[in-house]
Amino acid sequence: MTATPEPSFSAAKIRSLARRLLAWYDHAHRVMPWRALQGTKPDPYRVWLAEVMLQQTTVAAVTPYFERFLARFPTIEALAGANLDDVLHAWQGLGYYARARNLHKCAGVVCRAFGGRLPDTEAALLALPGIGAYTAAAVAAIAFDRKAMPVDGNVERVMSRLFAITEPMPASKPVLRRHAALFASAHRPGDLAQAMMDLGATVCTPRAPRCEICPWQGDCRAFAGGLAADLPKRSRMPKRPRRFGVAYWVERGGDGAILLRRRAEKGLLAGMMEIPCTNFRTEPWGKAEADRAAPLALNWRELPGTVRHVFTHFDLAVTVRVAKANARSAAEGTWCRPDEWSAYALPSLMKKIIRHARQAEGDATIRPPIPSRPAASGAARRSRRMSRS
Ligand code: SF4
Repeated sequence: MTATPEPSFSAAKIRSLARRLLAWYDHAHRVMPWRALQGTKPDPYRVWLAEVMLQQTTVAAVTPYFERFLARFPTIEALAGANLDDVLHAWQGLGYYARARNLHKCAGVVCRAFGGRLPDTEAALLALPGIGAYTAAAVAAIAFDRKAMPVDGNVERVMSRLFAITEPMPASKPVLRRHAALFASAHRPGDLAQAMMDLGATVCTPRAPRCEICPWQGDCRAFAGGLAADLPKRSRMPKRPRRFGVAYWVERGGDGAILLRRRAEKGLLAGMMEIPCTNFRTEPWGKAEADRAAPLALNWRELPGTVRHVFTHFDLAVTVRVAKANARSAAEGTWCRPDEWSAYALPSLMKKIIRHARQAEGDATIRPPIPSRPAASGAARRSRRMSRS
């Protein structure tokens, strides 16, 4: 087994690296809508929101969502006072909806317990709902200039190269965090954290690192050893298991409304609206049991093909069954008319199911297309409330 290296740069060397990194950051930093302009104080709400949005995705992808979200919920009080459905709706397209639910919950706690001001220490932030080690360190450092070093994928990569850590990820994460912690400093901690992220995103990039312009080239062990592009090493990921589900596309006679249902408050896609689905299990569903699990006793027909979706821990294959319901059918859920789609926050799996059903059925009654607008109009929201059964 590869030995786990421990930090071996002197404190003076670390201080020198930090100085050079800050000097580089002062002229090369990225401009982002949540970053404070030089000489101004950052807005903790913006910093927190951006850090939550940025998990699992990129700055370029997040920027338009951030601006729209902020226009809709400009303060932590506005977010806390909003309806959760509206928050989820504004989150559409960012995925991992648990983050939006936690954001909303956390805003409520901050308003009730802290008078609408995010606490300013890593420990107090960590105690809030949905705030993990990374976000607590990032907000403490960036918003409040507290001594902390958040460690994201960029920072892990930079550390693995600077110190030439050859132990593969994810086993090497603790040692990478220990190395990153050497840079937690009382001097400009927010800038240092952001500088480290920017270095990873723009210079020490995953492929083809630009060592020729890097402020750390002179001390970088990976550069010296010709290893830069080979680090960090990664262990082979085990293959994702496959799961199976059935979705039920049921159209109501008369107005062509489609049945939607809210998922359970806990678990996968918690609290989100769905085309009614079975649970997702390791065995494929047979016809008889799929009929028994249906939201209504109808004459169900299975569409050809399957909808594939990748979750973090499994690959999903969903078959779609369709049926027509009587205008007076009583089902648990909400009937959604074709003109109401844009009022709902639907996870991407559900959008795929809708697309699949529409294509297979060539159905003109469910236009306009699947929701893509970031915000529901007032009229759409009103009509959604009125049609909820
Ligand atoms: Fe990354 Fe190259 Fe800079 Fe080393 S010298 S930190 S490998 S960009």
